[in-house]
Amino acid sequence: MSSLVVIGGSDAGIMAALRAKEKDPQLKVCMLVADAFPNFSICGLPFYLSGEVSDWRHLAHRSLAEIQASGIDVHLNTKAVKIDADRHRVIGRQENAMEKEWVYDRLVIATGSESVRPGIVGLDLPHVFTLHTMEDSFRVKEFMDTYHPSRALIIGAGYIGLEMAESLRHHGMDVSMVEQLPAILPTIDANLAHKLRAYLEVKNVNIHTGVRVQAIERTAAGLLVHGDKNFQRTVDMVLAVVGVRPVSELAVNAGIALGKGKAIAVDRFMATNHEDIFAAGDCAETYHRLLDTATYLPLGTTAHKQGRIAGENAAGGHMKFEGSLGTQVVKVFDWVVARTGIREEEAKANGYDPFSIEITGWDHKVYYPGAKEITIRITGDKKTGQLLGASLLGHLDGAVAKRVDVLAMALYNRMTVENLLHVDLSYTPPLGSPWDVIQMAADEWLKGASLRLDHS
Ligand SMILES: Cc1cc2nc3c(=O)[nH]c(=O)nc-3n(C[C@H](O)[C@H](O)[C@H](O)COP(=O)(O)OP(=O)(O)OC[C@H]3O[C@@H](n4cnc5c(N)ncnc54)[C@H](O)[C@@H]3O)c2cc1C
Repeated sequence: MSSLVVIGGSDAGIMAALRAKEKDPQLKVCMLVADAFPNFSICGLPFYLSGEVSDWRHLAHRSLAEIQASGIDVHLNTKAVKIDADRHRVIGRQENAMEKEWVYDRLVIATGSESVRPGIVGLDLPHVFTLHTMEDSFRVKEFMDTYHPSRALIIGAGYIGLEMAESLRHHGMDVSMVEQLPAILPTIDANLAHKLRAYLEVKNVNIHTGVRVQAIERTAAGLLVHGDKNFQRTVDMVLAVVGVRPVSELAVNAGIALGKGKAIAVDRFMATNHEDIFAAGDCAETYHRLLDTATYLPLGTTAHKQGRIAGENAAGGHMKFEGSLGTQVVKVFDWVVARTGIREEEAKANGYDPFSIEITGWDHKVYYPGAKEITIRITGDKKTGQLLGASLLGHLDGAVAKRVDVLAMALYNRMTVENLLHVDLSYTPPLGSPWDVIQMAADEWLKGASLRLDHS
């Protein structure tokens, strides 16, 4: 019987192990997990910390018993410390510090990512936190339960920063966000980011963009955070959420090649340059479907798909990863912001001739109560009419996620903006319009793009 070892037990690792076992029930599948939380949804941490999810145990996608019942031999609190690729062995250190070897025929590396620790003086002080693992969340929770802080500062206004701003506001805290870039949420178009910022300020989140935090010091009044441009603020807790980096050292030491963003280089089958070794999830690079190139886009959705493919292929299959589009959706209080594909600047940099249009419409017929506005910006290529990307901002009740998914599906199928006008989308007055807001945007885009062409 041949054997598969999977290093990592989060989204990518568990998908790989489950799929491999499904494909070949005779395969011996063993999973090494550095922590005690296999298959937990770290995407849910902001909602656990807000109190909306009452118990961290509810974040488990599957229980340990369910994973084991699938025939997977799980070793928790077991950190892989070396891959001996020549001898097909993984050396792991267990909880009791004992080292043990696992022999594999095929190996999947799914070691994920870790929080970037920016070079800020004082980042190691007590009451300064990062947020990526279950343990990180327990530290924050314990601090909040013990000290009942009233003032928080979040470094980084990406999607996790935004989710945490809301999470901490649930506790009535005074929340400030500091972002070194000129706008919050740099993955969406600046105009939508600007609107979102105004909304966050209405929700009493103080936002400081274009400010780089330099140092944190403890004073009698609390943690004093210093930034450039004379920024100073005293708070009770600091949360640094400025992005992640791939955990790829294990792979490097085994002679496995790295690619984009120092993530493990993989082909479309999630195979590394080393025979019999696959990689998936946040530790690996991602094939960008639209740009037809490797990129680094660490997201749970991608980790699940890549993990499944790595598992399939490690068990003898030949499944191809169809690529990411960077599709993302974030709830921010009562609003939802979403994106898919590429923005104008990225399109230009990749040789397209992009044109964008932004419209605000209604999620459903205005005469039916509860209609919500949605702002949608779509970008397409003027030369070919191809849809390239979209950003959306609207109310939680406005089905923003459904709409970004329609656009993601269009991008997946390399559709033109005009194609959007012809798609048979659903309609009933309480839920939509005969011409959905996506189609209205597409119509405006076509008018604008042809005007541009006429005058150029
Ligand atoms: C707060 C937060 C919110 C998020 N929200 C979203 C969201 O809404 N949507 C979305 O798509 N994505 C979201 N993400 C991103 C998503 O969670 C990650 O992309 C996803 O978890 C990556 O899965 P992974 O399995 O590749 O790696 P990770 O989740 O990083 O897991 C790595 C695994 O490897 C193990 N490991 C590491 N090193 C070793 C070793 N040497 N030996 C043994 N085991 C090891 C770890 O213990 C862990 O089990 C969020 C992330 C965070 C932190």
